[in-house]
Order: sequence, then C-alpha cells, then structure tokens
Amino acid sequence: MPVVSAVLQTSFLGDMILTTPLLERLAADGPVHVVATPANAGVLANHPAVTSVLVFDKRGADRGIGGLRRMAKRLRAVGAQRALLAQGSNRTAALAWMAGIPERIGFDTSGGRLFTTRRVRYRRDLHHAARLWQLANDAGDERVPTALRPSLFPGEGEFASVNALLARHEVAPDAPLIALAPGSVWATKRWPSFAELAVRSAEHASLEQSRVVVLGAAGDASLAHAIAVAIHEAGAPPVIDATGQLSLLGSAALLSRARVLVTNDSAPLHLASAMNTPTVALFGPTVPAFGFGPLAEQHSIVEHATLSCRPCHAHGPMQCPQGHFRCMRELTPLTVRDAAVKVARPLSFPHL
Ligand code: SF4
Repeated sequence: MPVVSAVLQTSFLGDMILTTPLLERLAADGPVHVVATPANAGVLANHPAVTSVLVFDKRGADRGIGGLRRMAKRLRAVGAQRALLAQGSNRTAALAWMAGIPERIGFDTSGGRLFTTRRVRYRRDLHHAARLWQLANDAGDERVPTALRPSLFPGEGEFASVNALLARHEVAPDAPLIALAPGSVWATKRWPSFAELAVRSAEHASLEQSRVVVLGAAGDASLAHAIAVAIHEAGAPPVIDATGQLSLLGSAALLSRARVLVTNDSAPLHLASAMNTPTVALFGPTVPAFGFGPLAEQHSIVEHATLSCRPCHAHGPMQCPQGHFRCMRELTPLTVRDAAVKVARPLSFPHL
C-alpha cells in the first residue's frame, strides 16, 4: 500500500534544497506533498519526487490562527498518513497536528516537538541533507547514506531564459562561464573581495577565456556593479549581471552550464550542489561543520582555519562582534582563484 507523506519545510531556500534527498526517499513509498513558503515553492517545479506543493504564506495571507486553520484544511485534504517536520517550529508542527495527520515525525530539538508522535535525534555531526534524510528512518534507526546530493529540475523555460540573458549580453549559449555569487542576507557572510577575484581570474591562463556572470537577487545589484566596474577597468570582457534576472530554477539552469561557482555560505552554494556544479565555498563567521557545506562532487572550501573567534554565529551577524572581520578580510583573492582553478570544469565541458 502506498504511504502518503507530507513534508513541512518553511525555512530558508538552502534548507528546502537540502530537503530534496528526503523527498526522493519518501517518493519510493508513495505520493509526497510539500508545504513551502511562497519564496521557495517554485524551486520544486518539475521535481519528479513531488506530487504537489502547498504554499503556506505564514507571514502574509496565512498568518494568524485563521490562516493556520485554512492551511490545515488544505493539508488535511491531501490525506497524508505521516508528516515529516523538516522545519519544526511550533506553528509548523501545530499545522500538521491540526491537519489530523496521524504520524508526525520531527527533531528532538524542535520548538514544536510537543506536537510530534516520534522524535528523531538531531545529529550535529551530520550534513543537514543527511539529518533531514534521517526523518524517514524507522524508530531507532540512525543509518545515513555515505553520499547525498540534492536535486533540482530546471525546465525548458528556465534554459530559454538563460539563453535570452546571454543573448542580451551578446554571449553565445555555449560560452564558458565563471559564476560568482557575492550576496548574502547576513552581512558578515559576504566576502568583500569578489571584484578583485574577478580581475585575478581574468588574468589566469585557465580562466581568462571564460566570461564572469554574477548571480543573485535584485538586491545584490550593487555588488554586481562593483565587480563590473573592476572588470571594466582591468580591460577584461564585460561582466554578465544576472542579479534579479532569473528565477531560482533559472539560476540553477545557469549554474548547470558554469565551469565553477564561487560563493559565500548562502543559497547559491546549494543550487550548485543540486546541479553538481564545481564549487568554491567561502566560510567566515560560520563553518562547514554546521552541516551546510557544498555537496557538488568537485568542491573546495576556503576559510580562516586558525582564527579563534570562528564560528561566532549560527548564521552570521550583521556586524563583526570583534570589529576586525578577519574571518573574511584575510581570505585572499589569489587563494580563492587558485581554488577555483583546481575544481573548475575544463574549457571543453559540454555546456549544452
Ligand atoms: S567575530 Fe570573528 S568569526 Fe565573527 S565576524 Fe568577526 S572575524 Fe568573523
């Protein structure tokens, strides 16, 4: 008999992407319905493991007890036998309970654990993708696979939007690309030397023939502009500014064609893991041991390994508590460029 699952994941985009191995696992048992925020719902489009996405606008149209009741009614209608609380706040856990889902599985550290029928140990020693995957284990079973990678499925529309973006910049669809993602909502996670990295990359024999493309949200446009100015002054081919131009899956489509992505500890890192794009990940106030490191087969982590104040925050404070910001300032563009050279796909990589 198929088992119908509901996965509640209303955290950040990276968390949603890292939930996809769990979704694939559950899909082997039956239909999988996912509760997601409006911002993240689109990233699951075309995903073969997902039966439906229920958008829960917990801070907007669905806020308050009335919104929770309406959402519970919609969730009840999918007839799930089990709820997997990938995000375990009180509100999310209460939603699964109000929807009458008989089995509700969540982490033992979650705020909403009182609403669960079974608690899974939150293992800090695991990558977050593996932690989430464990929610589908039987009681007492702590096995995890040795390798997990998230998955996303950009469609024809997303690849067409990438082609259109490149065409606007007079770049061929099969041009070699180096992707940079300089943004993060947390200020101290932003490495301040992306512009110099772009210039140093343009000087390197193995990267000079690649065009630099900057990924990010519309709010990252000023970071892209700084990179574009530096590249222009260095006389290198102009930057392709993709900030605010592509959907989440459009960004994934673009990354699938990139030779390498250099990124802060932020959502593009996980998009690249899903597309298996070689990744250089820069960690400052956070550390990979939190469970959010890159999962692309080819990756490199650049961090200040000996700085005693690291890590200083679960996400990254808005200002350096020490005032010196050495964790990021002391990661040199040459070190990062050399890491990119090592992991980048060859120029002959089939981009299409
Ligand atoms: S306290 Fe240390 S780890 Fe935190 S932001 Fe400052 S330099 Fe980075």
